[in-house]
Amino acid sequence: MNRRQLLQTAAALPAFSAAAAQQKQIRITGVETDVLKRPPGTPIYDAIHKLSVDSGSVVLRLRTDAGITGWADVSFGMIAGGPRVVETILQQEVKPVLMGQDPAFPRRIRSELWKALEYNGVGGVVQFAIAAVDIAVWDILGKSAGLPVYKMLGAYRDRMPVYSMCGWYYDNDDDLSRYRRSLTQAMEQGYHAVKIKVGRGPIDDDVRRIKLALDVAGKGKRVMVDANQVFNRNDALRRGRIYQEMGCFWYEEPLPPHEMEGYAELAHELDIRIATGENLATKYAFADLIARRGADVVQPDNRRAGGVTEWMEIAAIADGYGLELASHGGSATNLNMLLAMPNAIYMETSGTRKLVDGEMAAPEEPGMSSEVPEADIRRFKV
Ligand SMILES: [Mg+2]
Repeated sequence: MNRRQLLQTAAALPAFSAAAAQQKQIRITGVETDVLKRPPGTPIYDAIHKLSVDSGSVVLRLRTDAGITGWADVSFGMIAGGPRVVETILQQEVKPVLMGQDPAFPRRIRSELWKALEYNGVGGVVQFAIAAVDIAVWDILGKSAGLPVYKMLGAYRDRMPVYSMCGWYYDNDDDLSRYRRSLTQAMEQGYHAVKIKVGRGPIDDDVRRIKLALDVAGKGKRVMVDANQVFNRNDALRRGRIYQEMGCFWYEEPLPPHEMEGYAELAHELDIRIATGENLATKYAFADLIARRGADVVQPDNRRAGGVTEWMEIAAIADGYGLELASHGGSATNLNMLLAMPNAIYMETSGTRKLVDGEMAAPEEPGMSSEVPEADIRRFKV
């Protein structure tokens, strides 16, 4: 270092210290929300849902006195009205609690929001609202520290195995040509694992779809099946034995989420991994499921579970029981959380992603990478 560089470094120091001191006293000064509505795409189906129709999301921005803005984008894949409810909760009940809070206290914020919101419910859209706040809070913390959130959470790895949710049901697809195209595309994109929907038709139809998926995926690749709650206990077991026999990697959500005993029975009877959790709210529901040994792969949904803080606690409970972890959905938030957990095996994704060896690289930018482009907000705001 020459003399000039030394002087420049010295001159930069006071400013840096002032910034650091300021960061210690960050306060939330504003709560802004937008509801977005995306245009409908080609309809796709699972065993019980029609998706890609009306989809809405609520974008949350938490402003701070440090000039840092925390972002969250909480989407509803098939519901246009839900985001309006979440926005109302955020503006009327959440905002008064948040103003002046220090974002470095996410668990205190969560506790105060619970008290402010429990009359509205302790699951459902209330958790979507709490999740939005928690994601934005972690975005602020990452940005103020200059680190991507997975490093704030205690990083375990910097690459994450991913799978493609690509085997949907489509209109006019009796010959499965559209289904085959979707699977083929995923393999061309470099995926090593794909998930398909089952249970919309009779077992023969499932068998046909699984055979085709295994064939397209090829040797050494994995195929997961997802029944989206459609079965009763008898059907779930009967079909599960067949999925298991065919070599599927996991069997997802065979039963409605409240059937905890049924999940325990299935997990006991079958060797194939039982994956579930996307429709459970908070760690209390997961603690129930896990204590009953009702899952092999624990799959919290970041929005329904209640945000990053809650999700990480669920992940840790699962880890303590020696269970594997996967995300429901595949946003940047999910990626940041999964990278911090040693028991994480897969992130769910859809569409084209940059993959190397079936894995996705960690985000590099400070924060959660949860910002929504201004152009999207202008275009889709309702
Ligand atoms: Mg699912």
